[in-house]
Amino acid sequence: MPSSLDLSGRIALVTGASRGIGYFLAKGLAAAGAHVIAVARTVGGLEELDDEIKALGGAATLVPLDLTDMAGIDRLGGVIHERWGKLDVMIANAGVLGVISPIGHVEAKTFEKVMTINVTSVWRLIRSVDPLLRASDAGRAIVMSSGVAHSARAFWTPYAASKAAVEVLVRSWAEETQNMPLRVNAVNPGATRTAMRAQAMPGEDPNTLPHPKEVAEKILPLASPSLTETGLIFDVRLGRFTRYRLPE
Ligand code: NDP
Repeated sequence: MPSSLDLSGRIALVTGASRGIGYFLAKGLAAAGAHVIAVARTVGGLEELDDEIKALGGAATLVPLDLTDMAGIDRLGGVIHERWGKLDVMIANAGVLGVISPIGHVEAKTFEKVMTINVTSVWRLIRSVDPLLRASDAGRAIVMSSGVAHSARAFWTPYAASKAAVEVLVRSWAEETQNMPLRVNAVNPGATRTAMRAQAMPGEDPNTLPHPKEVAEKILPLASPSLTETGLIFDVRLGRFTRYRLPE
């Protein structure tokens, strides 16, 4: 956790908090003083996170939820409203790869699952918590994208298309909210040593890749109340924001 990050008294939601990058984002937010709302399906992973957060002296609310359950995402916003009346940080991190395959071989159910989790559930979460983020004096939204949204890598089509879609969601939302305290950005974490990366690149030595803890630490400053940037893509490997926009 960056030592300067102070999120005391703030409420932070992280999806995909049961493992990988999301796990360490959640832990880092708690270490910075935030109360973490940790969302994923795997209860064991969430409980392990909870134990680690408690050991740090922090606090979390565990939300076992399948993000294909759109009504569940709506209810989550309602519960946060009743309990806290605001949300300070939203990290839409959960994602699935689908399959690495020629475009014509991708099964319809695989394409739909990737779009449902990587795009529709993010939109639904934005819709559910947007009023709560606006109720914060320094709402911060972070959505995980990928470099393939731009490189359009062969055989990664469902995943690449989903990340391109979610980036445009983020940029459009940022345009709508640019005159408010809310700051909305996407992140390209770069290749990271997680289960998803191992699925995509089974022949790769994971030890050649950065650990998700290291990657999470570089993303956490985007949750800072002092952040000014919005509508941009933070590239973890470059360590800076980039802008993808055609000239007017
Ligand atoms: P992991 O596969 O390690 O973790 C994915 C997380 O998403 C898990 O916590 C999983 O929880 C959750 N998730 C998946 N499906 C669902 C669902 N239906 N409902 C609720 N939660 C779900 O992935 P990473 O940590 O590698 O990836 C995190 C983000 O970073 C993703 O958006 C990914 O696209 C992006 N990214 C990753 C890169 C990498 O190299 N690792 C590179 C570029 C981008 P559970 O299974 O418990 O539900």
